[in-house]
Amino acid sequence: MAFKVKFWGVRGSIACPSPNHVVYGGNTSCIEVTAGDVHLILDAGTGIRGLGNEFIRQGRTNSALLLTHTHWDHINGFPFFSPIFCQPMTLDIYAGHLSDCGGIQQVFASQMATPMFPVPLEALQATLRFVDFRSGETLRFGEDVVVQTAPLNHPNGATGYRINYNGHSVCLITDTEHVPGQPDQRILDLIEGADLVIYDSTYTDDEFAAKVGWGHSTWQEGVRLCRAANVHRLAIFHHDPDHDDEFMERLEDQARRMWDRALVARDNMELTLD
Ligand SMILES: [Zn+2]
Ligand SMILES: [Zn+2]
Repeated sequence: MAFKVKFWGVRGSIACPSPNHVVYGGNTSCIEVTAGDVHLILDAGTGIRGLGNEFIRQGRTNSALLLTHTHWDHINGFPFFSPIFCQPMTLDIYAGHLSDCGGIQQVFASQMATPMFPVPLEALQATLRFVDFRSGETLRFGEDVVVQTAPLNHPNGATGYRINYNGHSVCLITDTEHVPGQPDQRILDLIEGADLVIYDSTYTDDEFAAKVGWGHSTWQEGVRLCRAANVHRLAIFHHDPDHDDEFMERLEDQARRMWDRALVARDNMELTLD
């Protein structure tokens, strides 16, 4: 059974549609994972709008949305995910960082509350189930998809995910800040031996010094972690909106020279994990 990843949004911070962002894409964080019969969505940034249109085309009526956290760039496509306005759509929404501060349902309700959005959460046609867990717990989907989680180093908290299926695995590690020279042991443990790690590469190492405390990491730290943890492939992700196509092409070239198993994620890119 297939194990596939599709990127619907790869930017961090804010969407950046412009003629200088067409190669890598301007939508914020959203990744679709298909693992046999199990369908998962990672994050609900602006990229989730296109995925919603695909749901309607395919007639898909259920999925689970796993949120790394609830900063805007990871949730504000949700009100434009058209299947939520349709029956019989069922969506389970998971977050691992809000158990002690009100829970995920409250955040989604406040995002759609008047006067920020005209349709309140409770008026949606779809059946939404909200699940709060604690980062570090293990989740299960269907018969044979196991999702391990770990807390990340980010303001207001964030959760890293490792999705295991059929002897293969993909990890999403965003958003997180590293400490130079001190690899994050919780991340190393989570990603050990994974087929693909999608990593918060907002900055370059050169830019990082001026951004300490902002909660993000670098593509070079992604390479260092993946090498140390025997990871097969790295997807550079959560691109800074100020990094236009020209910048990203140079970055991709440098990354491949540092480690030929690094690639730069783009909107609509699809990868297979078996
Ligand atoms: Zn972000
Ligand atoms: Zn964030």
